[in-house]
Amino acid sequence: MTEIIDGDAVAQSIRDDLSTAIDQLDAEGVQPSLATVLMSDDPASETYVSMKQDDCAEVGIEAIDIDIDPDADAGELYDTIDDLNADENVDGILVQMPVPDHVSDREVLRAIDPEKDVDGFHPENVGRLVAGDARYKPCTPHGIQKLIESAGVDTEGKEAVVVGRSDIVGKPMANLFIQKAPGGNATTTVCHSRTEDLAAKTRAADILVAAAGVPEMIDGDMVQEGATVIDVGINRVDADNEKGYELVGDVEYESAKERAGAITPVPGGVGPMTRAMLLYNTVKAAGLQHDVAVDLP
Ligand code: NAP
Repeated sequence: MTEIIDGDAVAQSIRDDLSTAIDQLDAEGVQPSLATVLMSDDPASETYVSMKQDDCAEVGIEAIDIDIDPDADAGELYDTIDDLNADENVDGILVQMPVPDHVSDREVLRAIDPEKDVDGFHPENVGRLVAGDARYKPCTPHGIQKLIESAGVDTEGKEAVVVGRSDIVGKPMANLFIQKAPGGNATTTVCHSRTEDLAAKTRAADILVAAAGVPEMIDGDMVQEGATVIDVGINRVDADNEKGYELVGDVEYESAKERAGAITPVPGGVGPMTRAMLLYNTVKAAGLQHDVAVDLP
């Protein structure tokens, strides 16, 4: 019987368990805070930011909401980041991507104080992750580690295959899998658009993470019997319903479910975990910056 990994439930338990650390901070007079900076009028980005703010409110993190006109100079965004870096009342800073074309996303990520970089994308934090001394694990791969753990799957000695090599999902996921640490110790293969015979690679996976952004590209034939399948993809495809579209993953769920030992659905799999791990990193940031020892889940 295939286990359907319930990302909503695991994310809820992470949020519940963060209350211990939030109480420890509270006892020292600290309320964790996250500043979200939005320089876009894209409705999807606006929705993501407002969901993150709602999540903060639910667990008792202060959400500081900053909107910058997408037509403003890049300098306005950098000045805002400088102010947030200097503000002792701000523990985490998140600039919602993508930023407008006239702003360099690379420079923006470098401008954020690494101690407040709760996305974990600053080069210092990327380097620490690779070196096995992570300060903030990027939210999506960290959430995936928690999902795999929740399914009772041990990664040690397993063949892990990651489809996708982006800086936000594929690369950090592979880096976590190869760490000599719990949730790591896997023999790891990273596939991408130039990979030859992708199906042969995915069929060898005990743990398969699909993060390509291609709707339903991995079907049941590409999945090893009993594998743990983690579907990161969120793709909008046309559908004959009221909205005119539906969300599907990178995995063809119905056929993959027939072969997988455990599988995440879309929606309700990785997505809620990404949001929960942002809260986790923000609480961790508050502990680090106010020198309060916190017990994290
Ligand atoms: P991305 O930056 O577009 O990267 C996609 C990666 O997939 C690239 O490395 C690309 O290879 C590879 N790829 C594309 N087509 C492929 C193919 N046919 N065969 C093998 N590899 C292929 O995407 P991303 O930001 O990592 O996101 C991936 C998906 O996850 C998207 O659907 C995104 O919406 C979703 N996502 C979900 C969450 C969540 O919380 N659930 C979080 C982040 C992202 P090249 O490098 O060779 O181009």
